[in-house]
Parts: sequence; C-alpha cells; structure tokens
Amino acid sequence: QKFEDLKLSEELLKGLVAMNFYKPSKIQERALPLLMGNPPQNLIGQSQSGTGKTAAFVLNILSRINVQENHPQALILAPSRELARQIQGVILTMGQFMDGLVVTPAIPDPSKRGQRTTGHVIVGTPGTVIDLLRRRSLESRGLRVLVLDEADSMLDQQGLGDQCKRVKSMVPPSIQVVLFSATFPEKVIEFAEAFAPNSNKLTL
Ligand code: AMP
Repeated sequence: QKFEDLKLSEELLKGLVAMNFYKPSKIQERALPLLMGNPPQNLIGQSQSGTGKTAAFVLNILSRINVQENHPQALILAPSRELARQIQGVILTMGQFMDGLVVTPAIPDPSKRGQRTTGHVIVGTPGTVIDLLRRRSLESRGLRVLVLDEADSMLDQQGLGDQCKRVKSMVPPSIQVVLFSATFPEKVIEFAEAFAPNSNKLTL
C-alpha cells in the first residue's frame, strides 16, 4: 500500500516525503482508513512506540484541520510534557507545507492568564489542559478530534485517568476520540471503552 492511496492532501504527501516516509507502516496502513472515514469514528488502537502510531493519528488530525479557521480543532493528551513536545515536533514537521498551521503546547503560563490559547492543534498533559479549559482560555467548541496517547502509562500515574475523563466531559460530545495504548490490562480496557465508546478496535 502507498500513502498516495490514502486520500491525503498534496501538502501532507509532501510532508511525508520531507520526512523520508516512503510507505505506510503496518499500523498506519490499518489505522488510517479507520481514522479517516466519514463520518469520523472512534478508534482504540494497540501499538507499541516505534510502530509509527504518532504519524497515524497526526495524519488524521491534519487531514481534518482547516487552517483558515483560527480556533483549536484538535486536542492531544499525553502522559508527560516530554512526550507532548515530541508529538508537537512530529505535527510541525509533517504539516510543514500547510501554510499557517499553528500547533500549541498546553503550558501553564501565569503571565498569560486570561489570554486565549490560539492554534489549530493543542498538545498537552491532562492537568494543564483542564486548567486551560476551566479558565476558558482554551475554546472547546470547535474541537473535532481528541487523541489520548499512551493510555496505559497515563493510568499508571495517580489521577491522570480521571483528568482525561474530565477533559472528555468538557469537549463537544460528537468529537472523534482516538486512544492508543501499548498494553491492554483489564483496567486499561475498561477505561478505553468508557473513554472512546463504540470504537473500531485495532491490534497489531
Ligand atoms: P512512533 O511509533 O510514533 O514512536 O514512531 C516510531 C518511529 O518510526 C519514528 O522515528 C518515526 O519517525 C518513524 N516512522 C513512522 N512512520 C514511518 C514510515 N511510514 N516510514 C518510515 N519511518 C516511519
């Protein structure tokens, strides 16, 4: 299979070439048709890091973004700031030919109190995102995609699972929910089913 068969924009195909991605990895091959369908459907995917899952959810997000609309359209929750930063880097590289694309890390910044969080894609840890949503710094109305990366590692940290649920309760109910986890012990399965109801399931 080829990226060219996946209904990606010219800009994204150029971004893939710039990254030296010549063909979809197995997870991309299987996840992208599920992720990019219309109407958008939820997905629970099992995938270790190193398999290319980041590019899979980033390609879906960037395919659903309208750069002309200046409000947050996708929200990504990661279990650490470090991972959030890495994801931000992947989005910027892959979306380098989408003129005007803005990706904003959710960072608690006291000097920005009361200011709007701008950008098309927001990436952050659940606690910070809740903080921004609660203060209405981050406008939730226009969000279309919610991604939760590394759900198992999220649930290993006290309180993060509940924080993710809180975020979910603050975004439009019609949002497309995408959840990835490397492992699926019982508690992750339970959490995932509640967080991303009626999902397509994908195991590698
Ligand atoms: P991830 O599983 O998202 O952590 O990605 C693992 C690594 O695989 C990253 O360094 C990506 O740059 C690389 N990668 C992801 N998709 C592809 C692809 N289709 N072709 C080549 N490299 C890829």
